[in-house]
Amino acid sequence: MAGPVLALPAGPRHEPEFGHDALVVCDSLVRIYQTDSVEVQALQGLDLLIHEGEMVAIVGASGSGKSTLLQVLAGVDTPTAGRARVAGHDLVDMSRAERVLFRRHVVGFVRQQAARNLVPYLTASQVVDLPMTIAGTARKERRVRAEALLESLGVAHCASRRPQQMSGGEQQRVAIAVALANRPQVLLADEPTGELDSETAEEVFAALRTANQQLGATVVVVTHDAAVSGQVARTVAIRDGRTSSEVLRSVDTADAVGVVEEYAVMDRAGRVQVPREFREALELTRRVRIALAEDHVEIRPGQGEVE
Ligand code: ADP
Ligand code: MG
Repeated sequence: MAGPVLALPAGPRHEPEFGHDALVVCDSLVRIYQTDSVEVQALQGLDLLIHEGEMVAIVGASGSGKSTLLQVLAGVDTPTAGRARVAGHDLVDMSRAERVLFRRHVVGFVRQQAARNLVPYLTASQVVDLPMTIAGTARKERRVRAEALLESLGVAHCASRRPQQMSGGEQQRVAIAVALANRPQVLLADEPTGELDSETAEEVFAALRTANQQLGATVVVVTHDAAVSGQVARTVAIRDGRTSSEVLRSVDTADAVGVVEEYAVMDRAGRVQVPREFREALELTRRVRIALAEDHVEIRPGQGEVE
């Protein structure tokens, strides 16, 4: 008789939407920059899910698309294709008015250049007050909030100082306070410690952890610093505009760090990037043999292949 026929359940299938329960969703995200003659694919189908309460480090070589990703999540840049959603806001189909509110209330952003995060003639108290004034927060509440933020982030002593009277690390911690002023759900930081020495960088990183653990923000931090990425529970590596691997660690306390496991990332079409070292070790090129074993999948060099 005929071979086995797959019995399909009747009626429509209810597959939950990709990332339906995530706070940050990037689904096949593409960003192409078009300059006169050349086209740069900064993001080439990036998939990424981040859940509420996570603190995630994004690492990757220069030019791999990290800043582009953060600009998209911040609502500053618009993707060319794919889907991006932050806290229920669709970043592709957002109206201008919605975008303004999104940037004011849903995300906070910290740049690498400390000076660009602050205003030269405003004190720390005044600069933290600014986003709340724009949002129409009452004066008393603004003052209480600014004081509490500067205190939590270890820069209460900078309250009446201007940027030039603060160290680089203090400036960045005040910048985190500014970014958190309107209680955003997501804090985005693009190499916030890039201009700092390692000791000062550690203070800034501690402030990011406070933002995450005590102030309840979901934190996405781009970093070159292996010491930083070594302290978060989840590190996502981007290569050529795609998420290529993830490292998950158990982080119980600030300094207890143990590598649990490194994962390759499979995209929604089932594609996995085999690390270059593996490909070179077994001379895996173009065609490979792939087989299903009981509890794993094998990839072997293709044999007798005619190029
Ligand atoms: P990273 O932050 O990982 O160093 P970026 O996201 O800044 O990477 O850049 C990714 C790629 O996109 C790079 O090749 C960069 O040159 C290019 N790129 C970034 N911004 C622009 C832009 N405004 N116009 C053209 N190309 C850009
Ligand atoms: Mg960058």
